[in-house]
Amino acid sequence: MINLASDNVVGASREILDAIAAANMAPEASYGADRFSREAEARLSQIFERDVKMFLVATGTAANSLALAAFTPPWGAVFCHEESHIADDECGAPEMFTAGAKLVGIRGFAGKFSADDLEHTIKRFPRGVVKAVQPSLVSLSQVTECGTLYSLDEIKAVAAVARRYDIGVHMDGARFANALISIGCTPAELTWKAGVDVLSFGATKNGCLACEAVIFFDPAKAAHFEFRRKRSGHTLSKGRLFGAQMLAYLEKDLWLANARHANAMAKHLSEGFANIAGVRMPWKSEANEVFAIMPKRMADALSKAKIFAAPWYTHSISMPSGEQVKDNESFLRFVTSFATKADEIETVLKTARAA
Ligand SMILES: *Cc1c(COP(=O)(O)O)cnc(C)c1O
Repeated sequence: MINLASDNVVGASREILDAIAAANMAPEASYGADRFSREAEARLSQIFERDVKMFLVATGTAANSLALAAFTPPWGAVFCHEESHIADDECGAPEMFTAGAKLVGIRGFAGKFSADDLEHTIKRFPRGVVKAVQPSLVSLSQVTECGTLYSLDEIKAVAAVARRYDIGVHMDGARFANALISIGCTPAELTWKAGVDVLSFGATKNGCLACEAVIFFDPAKAAHFEFRRKRSGHTLSKGRLFGAQMLAYLEKDLWLANARHANAMAKHLSEGFANIAGVRMPWKSEANEVFAIMPKRMADALSKAKIFAAPWYTHSISMPSGEQVKDNESFLRFVTSFATKADEIETVLKTARAA
């Protein structure tokens, strides 16, 4: 079996499991005060080239929802792509943890919106007008839901609009490492130097077992976060379980090596698909995801060979104009991970070619 439905269908890197085992027995401070969590925060401050505040949680949904809640009142508006993870895939958790703030979706090709799109949307919600939710925050996904990336200039342009309207900038970095490797800049350049205030720093999909960090680039903004995390049930009494994972994830650049490998596998797959007649890729594969429209016959051959991908939304508003998945076609998402093997990609391509 080859399962490329997502990057969370595999378990954790050996180094992560070993670190959890090694952190097991010695007495350690509880509720996030353990030395692993403290060292991970210090390490992230080095990596991001400034003093950050870091809070570890178990899921990306918790990281996103709590990060948004730190920046918006219940009467606030959070601007995001209409098909973003916070809008479509978190079961209303952002609305719940913000005590009812409104997510305002913005349309755009390939999972992205532009600075102009953001400005037009913000203008619908005038400051001080009591009947309008008040602009509070914009959230960008990097990597996007379509496997694409915002360039540094695009992030800066969005952040400039956010500054002009005095709202915060959140980045959903569930696949932050994959984006970083692909763009080839520093973590600081991809975040606070481009105007990002708070980052959901994903680790689970890239080799951890269950661990994500909320990273604040301005510690003052994190003032009440410890209370929010506790109320959400994400403050572990044996906090070392998170701390040991995050520290091992950063140690010896495991996070970068894992993402580099996953991206290389996706590149191999997308280059292969590009040379198979009948396969179309609506979005450029820019990190570790490949989206392919293919004849149903080919998709059936893959599943018969026990090669699994995720059926994707055929009516996504992020599709290029004119693109349509026909009745005799399937639309599939393939996601590579640190555990994907080159010969698995070869098998996928060989099976597709034969069909
Ligand atoms: C996977 C993912 C998350 C986190 O999801 P959880 O299942 O809650 O861990 C957040 N944002 C994006 C873009 C994702 O792909």
